[in-house]
Amino acid sequence: AQKIGVLALQGAVAEHIRCLQEVGAEAVAVKRTEELNELDGLVIPGGESTTIGKLMRKYGFIEAIQAFHAQGKPLFGTCAGLIVLAKEIENGEEAHLGLMDMTVVRNAFGRQRESFETELDIKGIDEPVRAVFIRAPLIGRVGEGVDVLSVYKDEIVAAREGTLLAASFHPELTDDYRLHAYFVDMVREASQAKANA
Ligand code: GLN
Repeated sequence: AQKIGVLALQGAVAEHIRCLQEVGAEAVAVKRTEELNELDGLVIPGGESTTIGKLMRKYGFIEAIQAFHAQGKPLFGTCAGLIVLAKEIENGEEAHLGLMDMTVVRNAFGRQRESFETELDIKGIDEPVRAVFIRAPLIGRVGEGVDVLSVYKDEIVAAREGTLLAASFHPELTDDYRLHAYFVDMVREASQAKANA
C-alpha cells in the first residue's frame, strides 16, 4: 500500500487518516520532519493557515516539504492546507510553502455564510462529490500549468498542478472518499514513475 502522511501540527488530522485508510492507503500522523522520509505522499489538512504556517516554520517543515515536493512526491492541501500550498495569498500576506501557482483569497465565502454544504462536479470524478465548506478560501487566479478541477458559483474551489492537489472544502468530513481515492491514485502514479526512472 502507499504510505501517506497527514501533517499533524494543527487541524483535521484524524479525519484525513480515516479517509485514506478507507481507500486502502497506509496513513500516519506526521509531527517531525524526519517522518517524511518514509512517505510517498502528504496531506496538509484544514485548520487555521496562519497557525499551521507558524508551526511549519518553527519545526522546519517549510524546507522539508519543499524538498519532499522536489522529489516528485504528491501533496494534497484542503482548506487551510490549500492556502499553505499557494504561491500567493491575496492581501499581501506572506506565502507559506509557495509551491502551487495560484493566488488564494482567505475566508472568501465567510462573508456570506460561515459554512455550507453542496454537491460539486469535479473533473476526473464521475458523479458529483459532497463538499463541506468552512470559512473556506477560494482560488482567485491560477497559472498556466494549473488544471482547474472544480468551480462553485464561478469561483475555483479545486485544482491540480502536476503532483499538487488543492481543495477549498473538507473532503475528510464526509463519507465520500473519492477525492482521497483520487489523491491515492496520484501517489501511486508518482511512485511508479519513480520506480521506472
Ligand atoms: N479560514 C481558515 C484559514 O484561512 C481556513 C478554514 C479551514 O481550514 N476550515 O486558514
